[in-house]
Amino acid sequence: MSYEPTIGLEIHVELKTRTKMFCDSLNDPDEKHPNINVCPVCMGHPGTLPVINQGAIQKLIRVGLALNCRIAEFSKFDRKNYFYPDLPKGYQISQYDLPLCNNGHLEITGHKIRIERIHIEEDTGRLLHPEGADYSLVDFNRAGVPLMELVTHPDIKSGEEIEEFAKELRLILRYLAASDADMEKAQMRIEVNVSVKKPESKKLGTKVELKNINSIKAASAATDYEIKRQTELLESGGTGMKTNKKLSANV
Ligand SMILES: [Zn+2]
Repeated sequence: MSYEPTIGLEIHVELKTRTKMFCDSLNDPDEKHPNINVCPVCMGHPGTLPVINQGAIQKLIRVGLALNCRIAEFSKFDRKNYFYPDLPKGYQISQYDLPLCNNGHLEITGHKIRIERIHIEEDTGRLLHPEGADYSLVDFNRAGVPLMELVTHPDIKSGEEIEEFAKELRLILRYLAASDADMEKAQMRIEVNVSVKKPESKKLGTKVELKNINSIKAASAATDYEIKRQTELLESGGTGMKTNKKLSANV
């Protein structure tokens, strides 16, 4: 192949805990009625304060140890401010510069995939778009559910390796009872950053981010498709710079 891919993953996983990350509302992914598991804390009412869920931290550390991470002796939370209807507080509590786990790796056939960091944050609510309606509804049952985010170094070389990494990670998450990691229920969400470059080039190619993928197989197939698309674009004289926007894979 005249071009080689550079692939990194960002994986979000909802942790399986009794209650939410910063309040005692239930974390029940099977609750069918909207806005049942809510309280002033996860609704962002003025004057309320978050209290950390110890069980969620323990589960995250367990995952970090299983993935050979260094566990931070000091960690903190940060506010990520943005406005969106599914985020009642106007900010998400996340971890920025001091994640709980870093410098890990997961071994797949042939080589190690380095894990840059794993941190904990809170999930958002869910927007519902009734068919034919000119409005949307919002369900806050999921708002504030503990969410781990894992970021790999760009060590993955193909869709096949994504599949192997994701399956092994899912096995570990289930074995540790950290998460059911069911992608169909969006309990595990994979985002792929992919670019291609000439093997001799030190500079990375233009990156495309693949999101909203609902199965491991689809993440693998979408990545292989994207590698082929970018390679053909570069071979036909394009630079990839004009596609400097996020592409959603719908496969
Ligand atoms: Zn709550």
